[in-house]
Amino acid sequence: MAKILIIEDENKIARFVELELKYEGYEVEIASDGRVGLEMALHNNVDLVLLDIMLPGLSGIEVCRRIRLDSSVPIIMLTAKDDVTDKVAGLNIGADDYMTKPFAIEELLARIRVALNRQSKMYQPKVDVLQIGELKLNLTSHSAFYGEDELVLTKKEFELLEYLLKNKNIAITREQLLNNVWDYEYLGDTNVVDVYVRYLRQKIDDKYGIHLISTVRGVGYIIKDEK
Ligand code: CA
Repeated sequence: MAKILIIEDENKIARFVELELKYEGYEVEIASDGRVGLEMALHNNVDLVLLDIMLPGLSGIEVCRRIRLDSSVPIIMLTAKDDVTDKVAGLNIGADDYMTKPFAIEELLARIRVALNRQSKMYQPKVDVLQIGELKLNLTSHSAFYGEDELVLTKKEFELLEYLLKNKNIAITREQLLNNVWDYEYLGDTNVVDVYVRYLRQKIDDKYGIHLISTVRGVGYIIKDEK
């Protein structure tokens, strides 16, 4: 069941919502301070955040903005009375929805279901198999096949191949590959790209006698559709 974080300094509201959510079967955590809430939103693996705007420590708007720098977790803002400015500000910085206090609990529950549903749909990869010639990459199971043979690829090799395949017929620079496939610690050191392309060529091109990844001189690499 989904875990919901309530960031709300009004104890009565927080407890009331907690009880209702638990009754519906959700796991619930509560923070009564903006700073603590932000930490919990980023590190406690929560599935949805209910976020009050007027908070001690850090305002709800600021908490929302900082969560969005790192996470796409659904956020429903809880605004006092009918403050239009707060609503607009919240939605502008990435909140998914807002509720005006006092709210009917049934309506809050309905909006939570909608937000969780939308999120779970968003996470389903649109394409789950990438294919070129005999090579197939299954993005759901993270497995790769050449014909009937399963290829043994490391995580990075798989991700590099995935990125090149998603952008097939486009020359991709080493910097693009670094930015999209590697973590920041490698930024600037494009040699790592060449090393991994070599691994992939050993495992695929050399083994099956094909020419999968081409070097584009002065640019980077490309996987082209067979003609
Ligand atoms: Ca408050």
